[in-house]
Amino acid sequence: MPGPTHDDAAPVIDTSRPHPARMYDWFLGGKDNYPVDEELGRQLTAFGPQIPVMARMNRAFMHRAVRRLTGEGVRQFLDVGTGIPTEPNLHQVAQGIAPETRVVYCDNDPIVLAHAKALLRGTREGALAYVQADARDTEVILEKAAEVLDLDRPVAVSLIALLHFLADEDGAYELVERLVDAVAPGSYLVISHLTPDFHPEEASRKVMDLYRAGGVTMEMRRRERFARFFEGLDVLEPGIVLAEDWHPELGEPVPGQEGIVSGSYVAVARKG
Ligand code: SAH
Repeated sequence: MPGPTHDDAAPVIDTSRPHPARMYDWFLGGKDNYPVDEELGRQLTAFGPQIPVMARMNRAFMHRAVRRLTGEGVRQFLDVGTGIPTEPNLHQVAQGIAPETRVVYCDNDPIVLAHAKALLRGTREGALAYVQADARDTEVILEKAAEVLDLDRPVAVSLIALLHFLADEDGAYELVERLVDAVAPGSYLVISHLTPDFHPEEASRKVMDLYRAGGVTMEMRRRERFARFFEGLDVLEPGIVLAEDWHPELGEPVPGQEGIVSGSYVAVARKG
């Protein structure tokens, strides 16, 4: 089913500088990346060889959170900063449990748009759409999402490994607030976010500097700044924790994760 917002123009992919979606794909062992992404990816893994496992731990949290929320009866998801498709994608997890689930994906990277067709292959009963937009263009996202989702009914809004690419002055807090404002009571907010809290100060600094030298914004946030995203919401148990500590019983551990700290805070909260 084609998404209502799918743009058929060939996306223009800038291969002269690294992009977060393609680096993440490289960390996950994908093929949708370019030499510039691999170059920065290699610099980062030379310094932190555990980074690819950390990326998988983040991805595994997304799977568990979607399982949990689908179990709570959520049938609508708005996922911002979706990334290059990596199976299982969010809709595959949700629709595998509840085929009627409706999912809207959004990313600002043209390479994700190039893969949107893979993100739009869902169940007959459910619905999928892809919105090419910057996370800060919340009005565009909400308008397009409303073509597929009923915003008067609960929606799970997920921003998985997205917000550390947005500085405070980029409007990171405002965009979350606007998205939460727009969804019905009973909706959920799901966030995972890199933090410097669990690694030596100079290690986090080095990672941020490497990204920034590559022209990529990287804003790891400490616990208090992470918690601010959830102001006014009811954070579900077990609260704000590392990705690996959020309901591990809902999935399998990632191979090789033993002894590795994901370095990502996560939380799932409900709008009352
Ligand atoms: N959510 C996926 C991918 C995380 S990688 C996962 O956790 O597996 C971060 C993604 O956010 C990339 O696909 C990148 O293109 C996207 N992104 C970064 N900044 C963005 C912005 N300002 N607006 C929309 N998407 C953005």
